[in-house]
Amino acid sequence: MSCKECKEKPVIRLTNNKIDLCRSHFLRYFEKKALKTIAKHHLISKKDLVAVACSGGKDSMSLLYLLNKIARKRDIKIMAVAIDEGIKDYRELKNLKKYCKENKINLKIYSFKKEFGFTLDNVVKKIKDLNPCSVCGVLRRRLLNKAAVELKANKLATAHNLDDESQSVMMNYMRGNLERSTRLGPITGLVKDKRFVPRIKPFYFLTEKETATYAYLKQFPVKFGECPYSVDSFRGEIRDLINEIEKRHSGTKNAIINSFLGLLPCLKESYKGSKVKTCRHCSEPSSGEICNTCLIINKLKKN
Ligand SMILES: [Zn+2]
Ligand SMILES: [Zn+2]
Repeated sequence: MSCKECKEKPVIRLTNNKIDLCRSHFLRYFEKKALKTIAKHHLISKKDLVAVACSGGKDSMSLLYLLNKIARKRDIKIMAVAIDEGIKDYRELKNLKKYCKENKINLKIYSFKKEFGFTLDNVVKKIKDLNPCSVCGVLRRRLLNKAAVELKANKLATAHNLDDESQSVMMNYMRGNLERSTRLGPITGLVKDKRFVPRIKPFYFLTEKETATYAYLKQFPVKFGECPYSVDSFRGEIRDLINEIEKRHSGTKNAIINSFLGLLPCLKESYKGSKVKTCRHCSEPSSGEICNTCLIINKLKKN
């Protein structure tokens, strides 16, 4: 077995076309693919200030590194934003802080405790009938958007990859929640609403395996390990299912995403009537009368 490009020893086999690549050709492939996504889907424009959502994990560290590399060559600025959810013995931002300091990247940390008055640990202890992952997801999204607005960023970059996105597409489909899928895609939130900062996903067409390999080869100082509350069983089932099919029919993940992107304009067209409302409690944008963040906060007060 040797690299397709140079006959060196390969470090990875790309699943969708069964190509083996050595270290340097894989790194080149990875960065090129992210750059191509950025260019093709117009994710970043000149003079943009991009806030990079960082968790201290491998995916977002790779994204921060890559966008910082691009920022040095092009006329854009980046900064890092991290959310401290208050998960004991899990959320670890020490390495991220050190990395940002060494690379002169401005880092801002927002915490659940300070912004909402409680940690995710508090929520889990008090409310038993809510899925911690959904609560965390809602609150994180709110805080990341708030951070991006406050920091005057005009893009918010997240490290979602092909695996994450194909799972979300299938989950929405199987739950009969098509409208939710209108909020997916390599760039989202382009509505003309100043309260929303558009989100971009440069790793949209890169797999979980590729992102992990990139972080591993680059030896980023990251903590591996799963969140103790990671119990979104439906996502787990879908992930295993898609991986199983991908193993037998390579290219499945790409096919899911490409089919979805083909349908997305029609989906957006048919749901364009559902306008963004304003939450009665907090005046933030919301799909219902009361936003999900306030629903969680109210529930917490009652318990
Ligand atoms: Zn090679
Ligand atoms: Zn609200």
